Amino acid sequence: MKYSRRSFYGTTAPASLSPVPYAQAENIFAQNHDGRLKDICDMHVHAAPDTKERSVDEIDLALDAKNAGYRAVMYKSNAWSCHDRAFLVRCAVSEFECFGSLCMNACTGGKVNVRAAELAANTAGNLCKCIWMPTIDSVYQNESEGRKGGGIPVLDGRGAVLPEVVRVMEICAQADIIFATGHSSPYESLVMAKKARDVGVSKFVVTHANSLIWKLSRDKIKELVDLGAFIEFCYLPCLWGRGTKLPKFRRMPKSEFVSFVKLIPERSFVSTDLGQVGFPNPVDGMQSCIDMMLGNGVSEKEVNLLVRENPALLLGLKKADGQRKNTTF
Ligand SMILES: [Zn+2]
Repeated sequence: MKYSRRSFYGTTAPASLSPVPYAQAENIFAQNHDGRLKDICDMHVHAAPDTKERSVDEIDLALDAKNAGYRAVMYKSNAWSCHDRAFLVRCAVSEFECFGSLCMNACTGGKVNVRAAELAANTAGNLCKCIWMPTIDSVYQNESEGRKGGGIPVLDGRGAVLPEVVRVMEICAQADIIFATGHSSPYESLVMAKKARDVGVSKFVVTHANSLIWKLSRDKIKELVDLGAFIEFCYLPCLWGRGTKLPKFRRMPKSEFVSFVKLIPERSFVSTDLGQVGFPNPVDGMQSCIDMMLGNGVSEKEVNLLVRENPALLLGLKKADGQRKNTTF
């Protein structure tokens, strides 16, 4: 049988993990990308190991992305750290830029944990490029799912940004890494954006701005960008829905997705948020996302900003140019 670590999921025999060169791993692309994904950076992908089953592991994803011509990927795990594993993925997959991130959830002690942020920012390789505020354990998500009184707050009872959140902003500013809003509410994101501007965070990202309960109005996006934010749009909502493994969510029409990404591409980026079982490989997903954008009125220049230039800038792969600060609507 052809070697594949993918086929090992669910097996327990350690003998299965014999050292076969990674270069021999099977390529499971559904599409031939023909260099069309050159220099892509996907800053939001979920890969194994994780607490949820994933369609691909971190090493195979790095290989897939590298083979397709990507410049970089950044892993996200809601349950655990992945910035430390990114170091090892780089040992296995040479000459490819993979990064990790850290979400403030149960794994950080059920709070926005300053020490965890400090340690992540100081882990070998400096591969933690993003600290996410609480995602699956956020107050907003808890409340929206009917779990009153639970979740990790980012604001205090008076609506001010909690001191530990401010401290994490300072750590991100100093390390020049992304401070991401996670699954905070639009209101919480706005309050944090104001504070982050005062603190001097240059890479403040409002995430999932087109998804479910985090979906932002046009005016809110403009307000956040005026405060210095970058806005993340995820492709996943264009794929889920009836007949998929995430049937309860309404699929986002292409036209709606396009209207989001065309709003202010100079300060936005597109990530796939893929890696779920039953959905396309993140690399195939990125290709179909780009094809969809190009086929629906998004220009090559805008696509470049959304999936190449802005994510590269946020990952520290390219210095900001003076132009970006003068963005106007
Ligand atoms: Zn995600």
